[in-house]
Amino acid sequence: PKVAQQVAAGEVVDRPASVVKELVENSLDAGASRIEVELKEGGTARILVRDDGSGMDPEDARLCVLRHATSKIRSVEDLEAVSTLGFRGEALPSIASVSAFQLVTSTGEGPGTRVAVDGGSEARLSPATHPRGTTVLVDRIFYNVPARRAFLKGPRTERAAIVELLTHMAVAHPEVSFRVVEGGREYLSLPTATDLLERLAQIHGVARARALRRVEYEAGAFRVEGYAALPSLTESSRAHQTVAVNGRWVRGENLHRGLDDAYRATVPAGRYPPVALRISVDPRRVDVNVHPTKQLVRFSDERAAREAVAAAVRSAIEWRPP
Ligand code: ADP
Ligand code: MG
Repeated sequence: PKVAQQVAAGEVVDRPASVVKELVENSLDAGASRIEVELKEGGTARILVRDDGSGMDPEDARLCVLRHATSKIRSVEDLEAVSTLGFRGEALPSIASVSAFQLVTSTGEGPGTRVAVDGGSEARLSPATHPRGTTVLVDRIFYNVPARRAFLKGPRTERAAIVELLTHMAVAHPEVSFRVVEGGREYLSLPTATDLLERLAQIHGVARARALRRVEYEAGAFRVEGYAALPSLTESSRAHQTVAVNGRWVRGENLHRGLDDAYRATVPAGRYPPVALRISVDPRRVDVNVHPTKQLVRFSDERAAREAVAAAVRSAIEWRPP
C-alpha cells in the first residue's frame, strides 16, 4: 500500500509548487484571510504553510491524513457543483507519503493537535498549541522516492515556480493576504486587497496598472469579468495571465488561445499582456475533475469558452470613438 500511495502521490504532487498549491487551496477552503509560506532551498528542503483559517478539531486532524477522508464532498451531486477548491481527499495523504510531514492545527477552542507522518508511516498524534488555524510542514519532499527527488530543479527554479503559482492564486483571491519568505528574504508580499484592481496594482505597480481595462462581458453560458491590459503593456510569459473559472484558478489551452486571439493583431508573438479574468459558468458545463491536480479544466463547449474569452478581452481593449 505504501508504494501504491507513493505512485498516487506522484499524480497529485510532482514538485514543491504543487505541494504549495494543494496546501494553499486547503487554507483557502478553510476560509483563511492570511496565508504565509516559508521555504528552505526553494521548497526542496522545507515547505511551511501557515494559515488563520478554521483549523481542525482533534478528530478531523486525525482523519485529514487518511485517504479520501475529505470533509468537503458528501455525494455525487456535490461533485457536480464543487464549491471548494479541494474535493478528492488525496492531497494530504499523498504529500505525507513522500515527505517528513507535520501538521499543527487548532479551532481556537479546546486543545490543538499535532499530526506527524514520516514517508507514509502511521500518523502520530499529540496535543499541541496553535492559534486558530493550521500550519503544515513538509520536509525533504520525495526523500523516500529517489527517482522523483532526482527530477527536482534547483532552489531558484522551484522557488520561482512557487512565487508564480501564488501570484496567480493571489489574483484569484484578492481578499486574502499572501507572503512568501525564505532565509529572511521576502519573495512575495501582498497584503489584503479590497478588490481585484487593488490586487493587480500591488503586483504590477500603480503606474502600470493604469494600462488595465475593465472587462465585463456576457455571452451565452459565460460571464467574464476582470481586467485586461492594453497591448502596450506586455511581458515575456503567461505568469500574469490569470483565469479563474467559478473561483478556481485554472490552466486551459483554449483559455490561453482565447487570450492570444484577442491580442493577435496588436501584440507580437511571444509577448503576453497581463490579464485577470473571472469566468462564471454553470458548473455542469465545466469539469474540474479532469486531472488529479485539478489545474486543467474541460468545458462542455471548448470553442465557446475560447470565443467568450477572446470577445471579452476585445470588448475591453478595443479603441472606440469617444
Ligand atoms: P480535500 O481538500 O480534497 O478535502 P485534502 O487531503 O487536501 O483533501 O485535505 C483533507 C481534509 O483535511 C480536508 O477535507 C479538510 O477537512 C482538512 N484540512 C486540510 N487542510 C486544512 C487547513 N489548512 N485548514 C482546515 N482544514 C484542513
Ligand atoms: Mg485539498
